[in-house]
Amino acid sequence: MKAVVDKSLCVACGACADTCPWVFRMGADGLAEAYRGFGRTELDAAEDAAQDCPVGAITLSRSSS
Ligand code: SF4
Repeated sequence: MKAVVDKSLCVACGACADTCPWVFRMGADGLAEAYRGFGRTELDAAEDAAQDCPVGAITLSRSSS
């Protein structure tokens, strides 16, 4: 699975990187990025991060690509 951050929406609050650092981190541009794919172990945390994003910038995909 993978996550995508829409950087045009991200307000750099840092919540996703705090909630799920296995998938999200703050990039050099100050905005969040999804830096790796993830498996079932991280799915709950990734879903929490997506739901808690204040601007809905995170999309999760079950695609393995
Ligand atoms: S939770 Fe949303 S707004 Fe906050 S840093 Fe992550 S992607 Fe950006």
